[in-house]
Amino acid sequence: MLQINNINVNYHHAVQVLKGFSISVKPGEVTALLGANGAGKTTVLKAASGLLPLENGHIEDGDIIFDGHSVRQVKPHLLARKGLVHVREGRRIFAEMSVEDNLKAATYALTGRKAGQGIDQVYTYFPRLQERSRQLAGLLSGGEQQMLAMARALIAEPKLILLDEPSLGLAPKMVDEIFAIIARINREQNVSMLLVEQNARAAFSVSHQGYIVENGKVVLEGRIDELKANEDIQTFYLGMG
Ligand code: ATP
Repeated sequence: MLQINNINVNYHHAVQVLKGFSISVKPGEVTALLGANGAGKTTVLKAASGLLPLENGHIEDGDIIFDGHSVRQVKPHLLARKGLVHVREGRRIFAEMSVEDNLKAATYALTGRKAGQGIDQVYTYFPRLQERSRQLAGLLSGGEQQMLAMARALIAEPKLILLDEPSLGLAPKMVDEIFAIIARINREQNVSMLLVEQNARAAFSVSHQGYIVENGKVVLEGRIDELKANEDIQTFYLGMG
């Protein structure tokens, strides 16, 4: 579904953030990227969704293949129409608009379809949002705002969702709820996902494949069961040491 082949990424031609970076996301699977703050995980998502040029970032070498085509030079709104959507860190919803209007705006922006189509289907995954459809998005809890950010992406009927830190700042119970929804979307919609997450335990609960990123490079990769059995991962990521 997505192959990132040997890319080098710089910001402002100065700091090299990704160095010979390669990963792949198989169709229908959730792939997790784990690693310390600043390792370059968010930059991987920005490279894949076409956001780097907006931040003065550059892919120097290598290629990114989505659904069989190179997307190295493709702009974010065109990628969304092809089925690749990015749910960015920090959620970025329209705080002054209602929940429903956020979803209507996303329908039009991401698909070009008449505003409103597909919203009822998306609500089946997020009943909390349906209950709060007329509420201002800025008044939602952090977890509900994360749900809204995910719901907006789902409106595009994506093939691949890039999901950046869905657990950020959320209470453990809400993290469980969000990850249960992620698993259900993956299972029922057959959407592939590339997930950046600090909470390794939550990430492992929904993922099939994982990559550990350090200093702009993949240092370990494997199926989730292999990674869970790895002593370093148990010590440094699962707190079992
Ligand atoms: P985090 O979990 O904190 O988001 P990360 O692994 O996702 O970390 P990135 O956000 O990809 O890491 O950042 C990797 C490096 O690139 C960091 O050193 C960061 O300071 C730098 N960086 C990120 N964005 C920019 C930018 N727009 N301009 C310059 N440098 C940047």
